[in-house]
Amino acid sequence: KYKGLSYDEMTKIRKNNVNPALTTYYKKPLALHQGYKQWLFDINGRRYLDMFAGVCTVSVGHAHPKITQAVTEQMDTLGHSTNIYYHTKLHEYAKKLAEKLPDKLECIYFVCSGSEANDLALLMARSYTNKFDVISLKNCYHGMTYQMMGMTSNNYYKYPVPGAAGFFKTTNPDVYNGIWGGKNCRDSPVQTDRPCSCGSECEAGLRYLQQFECELRHDIPKGGLAAFWAESIQGVGGTIQYPKNYIKGIYQRVKDQGGLYVADEVQTGFGRTGDYFWGFESHGIVPDIVTMAKGIGNGYPLAAVATTKEIATGLAKAGHFNTFGGNPVACTTGLSVLEIIEEEKLQENCKTVGTHLLLELEKLKSKFPVIGDVRGKGLMIGVELVEDPKTRVALSTEKVLKFWEKCLDMGLIVGKGGISGNVIRIKPPMCITKEDADFTVKVFEVALEDI
Ligand code: PMP
Repeated sequence: KYKGLSYDEMTKIRKNNVNPALTTYYKKPLALHQGYKQWLFDINGRRYLDMFAGVCTVSVGHAHPKITQAVTEQMDTLGHSTNIYYHTKLHEYAKKLAEKLPDKLECIYFVCSGSEANDLALLMARSYTNKFDVISLKNCYHGMTYQMMGMTSNNYYKYPVPGAAGFFKTTNPDVYNGIWGGKNCRDSPVQTDRPCSCGSECEAGLRYLQQFECELRHDIPKGGLAAFWAESIQGVGGTIQYPKNYIKGIYQRVKDQGGLYVADEVQTGFGRTGDYFWGFESHGIVPDIVTMAKGIGNGYPLAAVATTKEIATGLAKAGHFNTFGGNPVACTTGLSVLEIIEEEKLQENCKTVGTHLLLELEKLKSKFPVIGDVRGKGLMIGVELVEDPKTRVALSTEKVLKFWEKCLDMGLIVGKGGISGNVIRIKPPMCITKEDADFTVKVFEVALEDI
């Protein structure tokens, strides 16, 4: 039973004591009390199907009893110890997480958030290569530390202050909205209807690679690239998938320059994309550094940077310290998450339920021209809403919000994003069922009739 503050009391405190920059969702923000598996309950006991998982964060389900039990036992024994001492959980977890990664990525550093993981990875990359400049993709999101704001490319998150130096952006290889791309360019059970000029082989990837080469020629001192950074599928940017072979091409070019490839797996890791445990595996490369957060801890502040021993050693040029990173409770949580993903076959569930949902959404697209594009892999899905599928102009914010609020009225939580805010994002706890997927499609149908 809910025993907390009333909605009005929270609203008052929010106004007076909470930084107004903190974004809230919905006209009347949800006041949540409880979660269980794929469900959320508000303070009045109303149930919602959570198809956004706290921005792709709750991986194995809300309030998972196995995690609760393991964490309770750990809290009861030792709640905190910093990295200056040994603790069994950090070592058990580092070993188990390393086993999930390609062999060479055996060295783990635990931190507390995705931004922190990327920031640390940047220091590692610069420290190891003795180079400074980094290229990321337009429309990417890598975090909110000062440096990561520089790497991120989305003006919703840009402040009018001098940006951190050394960050360059290359053309986003977006096969739906970008200059090149079309049918069969991306690795997804569903493809855009956009006509494609490619012949039997997808050429869009090559064209976008030429843009990257341009970036190298114009902005980066010869051989001066420290790293290339990318999400394996862009999350905040609106579930953007790159053309086939693009990342492989980038990888080769980055290596030619002596730079590192860094995969941000904050959203795409831990089985979410279905086919593989990590998103980068779909691109057929092994990164030099992998950053992870969100789903790694099922909602607990836990994140990590995995890299090779050689690159990790680059960080040892000076002392490095993190008070909370790798604490026993965080590592217990992370260990439980890995076990649950295996025991409950959640990666496989992402593949089957995700593919089912993608195909059902695709059917809905043929009925509603306002759906311009359905894309994604596994349970990382985007539905782009447009004024007209031919022009691909973003649906007005007013209509997107109307759709979104209507979904909430019917008990469905989904996210939204994309550079124009017109992409509905679906990234639920990975334990959802086909019935939940069908409910989502039904709610979409009713809400789309409305707009
Ligand atoms: N990378 C990606 C791909 C993300 O989506 C996010 C968060 N949205 C981050 C990094 C930053 O993570 P955090 O909010 O935990 O700092």
